[in-house]
Amino acid sequence: MSIQTINPTTNEVVMSFDEMTDSTVNTAVAQAASAYNDWRKTSFAHRAQLLHKVADLMRAKKEQLAKLITLEMGKLLSQAEGEIVLSADIIDYYADHGAKFLADKRLSPKYGEAFIRYSPIGVLLGVEPWNFPFYQVARFAAPNIMIGNTVLVKHASNVPQCALAIEDLFKEAEAPAGLYTNLFISGKRASALVSDVRIKGVSLTGSEAAGASLAAEAGKHLKKSVLELGGSDAFIILEDADIDKTVEWAVVGRMNNNGECCVAAKRFIAVEAIADEFIKKFTDKLSKLKVGDPMDPATELGPLCNEAAAVQIADQVSRSVSAGARLLLGGKRVNRKGAFMEPTILTDLHPGIPAYHEELFGPVASFYRVKDEQAAIDLANDSDFGLGGSVFTGDVERGRRVADQIDTGMVFINHPTWTQADLPFGGTKGSGYGRELSELGIDEFVNKKLIRTSALSDPF
Ligand code: NAP
Repeated sequence: MSIQTINPTTNEVVMSFDEMTDSTVNTAVAQAASAYNDWRKTSFAHRAQLLHKVADLMRAKKEQLAKLITLEMGKLLSQAEGEIVLSADIIDYYADHGAKFLADKRLSPKYGEAFIRYSPIGVLLGVEPWNFPFYQVARFAAPNIMIGNTVLVKHASNVPQCALAIEDLFKEAEAPAGLYTNLFISGKRASALVSDVRIKGVSLTGSEAAGASLAAEAGKHLKKSVLELGGSDAFIILEDADIDKTVEWAVVGRMNNNGECCVAAKRFIAVEAIADEFIKKFTDKLSKLKVGDPMDPATELGPLCNEAAAVQIADQVSRSVSAGARLLLGGKRVNRKGAFMEPTILTDLHPGIPAYHEELFGPVASFYRVKDEQAAIDLANDSDFGLGGSVFTGDVERGRRVADQIDTGMVFINHPTWTQADLPFGGTKGSGYGRELSELGIDEFVNKKLIRTSALSDPF
């Protein structure tokens, strides 16, 4: 396997890195385990100080770090800068609130006294994807470092310079050796590493296949796992929605990050009464997107993360059309070098057509028209995924009623599914389990230890 920066705008290899040997990995795990023995004894204030330093450094280097993201995975530069700020905010959020979230919780037993102490559990392994190379790592590393755990991070093989840049931020902030360590290894070796007795928990954000592989190892070795996997979010448009505003959000929901978001709006479900108006305006806006170099501020849609991803999504579209789907827009690779795909809309989708079932990780929208609200809910739930989703309506109470019936981990009313430090993030069904961000995200890799004091005379 290769750990390489390949610029998806040109498909040229920019830099290559060697995979770590088993002996280097063993040393890294030993160092993380030894760092844990000291780090677990530090105060919340000490941990917060380090995290704030990392966040400050990240903000100070925003332009430089954002360029790395754009170079390695093709995100529009303005969005890459937004990712750096969001990541720094997440790190600060856990530094600011971690002590409060992890404070002892008093209980009121029938006899004596009791409380819950939130203790760290040890070295964790995080396996992270390329689509938000800083944000994904921030939401795993910051809460866990605040708890007192230490982390090993196996980042995606196509963002090695981002992976090293994050490790460097911790070094520059004078984090103790072993607190945060980047591992240059394959996914397979990451799964195999789960059996190492020094590793106490694992978290993976990525595809279902990778998640299943890592979680199977975790299950075999009785270790806690958190999985943040793919999604095929429904974007429901009801007849009382403001169509012009909804169309604007639909474009953002589908095309943000060049369409490569786990929580991108992927299935647009419009009720009959407004379906024609919605799809006409949506198609018009997508057809006018300026496709090009993501470093150019005028560009509105950049390349996919690499050539393989572009080949895959073009293949999903072509298999779907062969199976009976109809193209309303696009459908082909863009005629230029690089991993580009045209903004595309598919319709006439039904069970059995690939695009009805598979996650479309790129600038390809699926459009469905349905009779009414109930049909929209039923279609939204007819998916193996359960990550996010949104409902657009002029009646917020109606939106909440619909949201209540959608089987996903997150539902947004009048907004595409999105993220911030203080909102929990995660899915259900095939989209995984566990939560990141908010108070819930600091609750996964802790030992919620009961400490009970009794009087000797208390009953058994
Ligand atoms: P991927 O292939 O699963 O890669 C994700 C990470 O898993 C990479 O670091 C990869 O390493 C590693 N990996 C691959 N095979 C593995 C294995 N057998 N065992 C352990 N680790 C393994 O995912 P992707 O297709 O690049 O990323 C996009 C997917 O991530 C989409 O499905 C998207 O929806 C999902 N995602 C979910 C969330 C969420 O929060 N729910 C957020 C972002 C993305 P290599 O790069 O070395 O292969």
